[in-house]
Amino acid sequence: MRSQAETSVLARVDELAAEMIEFLQQLVRIPTINPPGENYRDCAQLAGDKLREFGYEVRFIEAAGRPECTANFPRVNVIGRLHGSRLNPTLHFNGHIDVVPPGAGWTLDPFAAELRKGRIYGRGATDQKAGIAASLFAVEAIRRAGVRVIGSVEQSATVDEESGGLAGVAYLAEQGYIRPDSVDYVIITEPLDYDRICLGHRGVYWFEVLMHGRIAHGSMPFLGVSAIDRMGRLIERIERELKPKLAERRTRMPVEPDGARSATINVNSILGGQHPDLPQTPCVADLCRAVFDRRFLIEERLEDVRDEIIELVEELRAADSELQYELKDLLIVHPTMTGPESTLVKTMRDALRETVDREPPLIASPGTYDQKHFARLAGIEQCIAYGPGILKMAHQPDEYCEIEHLTAACKAMAIGAMRLLGVA
Ligand SMILES: [Zn+2]
Repeated sequence: MRSQAETSVLARVDELAAEMIEFLQQLVRIPTINPPGENYRDCAQLAGDKLREFGYEVRFIEAAGRPECTANFPRVNVIGRLHGSRLNPTLHFNGHIDVVPPGAGWTLDPFAAELRKGRIYGRGATDQKAGIAASLFAVEAIRRAGVRVIGSVEQSATVDEESGGLAGVAYLAEQGYIRPDSVDYVIITEPLDYDRICLGHRGVYWFEVLMHGRIAHGSMPFLGVSAIDRMGRLIERIERELKPKLAERRTRMPVEPDGARSATINVNSILGGQHPDLPQTPCVADLCRAVFDRRFLIEERLEDVRDEIIELVEELRAADSELQYELKDLLIVHPTMTGPESTLVKTMRDALRETVDREPPLIASPGTYDQKHFARLAGIEQCIAYGPGILKMAHQPDEYCEIEHLTAACKAMAIGAMRLLGVA
């Protein structure tokens, strides 16, 4: 049931729509392209100024000490805090300001933020500057309606999500700016569809295998041992034996699309022997390197995932006693999921039912995003992703966000915030 206060806040969102659209256009017009991480300071400043205008206490946090934080490309994050009548609960909204490069295929200027037929076009319109605009204006609508909430609100706009978030959310968590004793709920405003709630993501294990061989003249390959052939045998076993096994392993997490509800593996890159761009000499390859991207499920243990690979190589070695290899971990992200029965999920589910007018599906993401840092580094248990826009628009040419989705998400966030924080 919608309260009177909620009804008046929703009316404020409609009144504020033009202002919210203008702010989103301003955000999109700053090309915060990552890599390399352009114009972060300007974009953080724009978000920070808006937060100040809306009554927040604002701090700019540069990721000093991180190697990617340079004089030309400073990594500037911003956090605002709006005090309620009590410190807790605190609801933290987070959005990333970086966007991927526009790429080819645009018919419009990717940074003009044109408004056409109820859509705002531009790189980052959906992923995910609309999310930043929606959460700022959701809380502002509450304030302008004269409704006082009991708990407090934090909003952060952070860098580098598209490249792993180490100078963004991870930095804020490590430096103690985001802590479980001061933050109860986190909503990451990523676009996984404006009418769905995302509970978490699968795990990532990136590893490199280096195969050794023995060099010999290419006209007499039988005198050497090819590292490429050895790698080929490993890849063949992955294809024939491991992949079918992984496809059978299904998670209880509601990952979308359905194919990603299984464990998966992908060969990300391979390099063996001489570089094909260089003049060639006839040689048996004595080295071959490949990088693999294994996505693992919340039901799998990282140690088992790694052992499974080692076992495959060791079995090859049983038939090839001179085989030498090295296995190196490159990146590990553990799976994370907020419980569907948690206060945050239940409240946002109710809020969406009120505003989007249908039962919101609960999903999980095939790839990772900044939730890993909130969950694993900051130790915050209740964290979801919810924001305007539709997932398949992310990173596309002619990316756009529907104004209708922007206001719908803004309304859901406003109702969610009031219910999570309590109204005085
Ligand atoms: Zn994103």
